[in-house]
Amino acid sequence: MEDFFLPLAFFIFGTIIGSFLNVLIYRLPRDKSPLKPAFSFCPSCGSQVKWYDNIPVISYIVLKGKCRNCGSSIGIRYPLVELLTGVASVLAYLKTGLSIDYIFVFGFLAVMIAITFIDLEFRIIPDVLNLAGFLMGAVYTFFREDFTLLDGIIGAVVGAGLLWGIAYLYLKFRGIEGLGMGDVKMMAFVGMYLGWFGALFTIFVGSLLGAVVGVAAVYLSRSEEKGRFEIPFGPFLAFASVIYLFFGEQIKNWYLGGMY
Ligand SMILES: [Zn+2]
Repeated sequence: MEDFFLPLAFFIFGTIIGSFLNVLIYRLPRDKSPLKPAFSFCPSCGSQVKWYDNIPVISYIVLKGKCRNCGSSIGIRYPLVELLTGVASVLAYLKTGLSIDYIFVFGFLAVMIAITFIDLEFRIIPDVLNLAGFLMGAVYTFFREDFTLLDGIIGAVVGAGLLWGIAYLYLKFRGIEGLGMGDVKMMAFVGMYLGWFGALFTIFVGSLLGAVVGVAAVYLSRSEEKGRFEIPFGPFLAFASVIYLFFGEQIKNWYLGGMY
């Protein structure tokens, strides 16, 4: 029974954190305090959401996606983020087991979820998220056996430095800002967790995915929209970094093994 109940407990815990991530996703880009007011409110009518209407995923289903007070629709993003964070919590538990590592691995995933949804909607990555992730990664190095604080610092410098260089060249030769400083700071956070090799992997795979989706988006768009496409880079970096977080050892061994 433990095989079932423990992952379920981690899933439920994840959805509760996901509910808090929804608050951050709404408030951080609007420069509102993430902690005050402590209760959630309907963005349409401003009414306070009762505790029984604020149960992750379940309340959305019970309310059929509508505010109980004014009936305006609640975005699908809310249950989606809660479910995703629940799954992330279970995956983190399956990777780390019941250990201190869970907190840091799940923390990484939670910050990436918040970054992804904010960047998708607002094309920004709040500094506070990058800073929180960076500091979490730095503290984590003291609990890791095969990864020191120096490894993290080198990773942060390589990741942020390379992306800053790309942004600089892009601006110099194309005269437009293709990458924001938010992406550069995000790579410092990623490098602190994943080291220099993981940072390079994240930039390479993230760029590749972004290019494929970017070309597809331009191709599929109506002609008057062409050339005006702006695709946020953060979600692609987040996706690539999560792949490396889970499969980094295999990727590194496979890649370095192939060189001999
Ligand atoms: Zn309402």
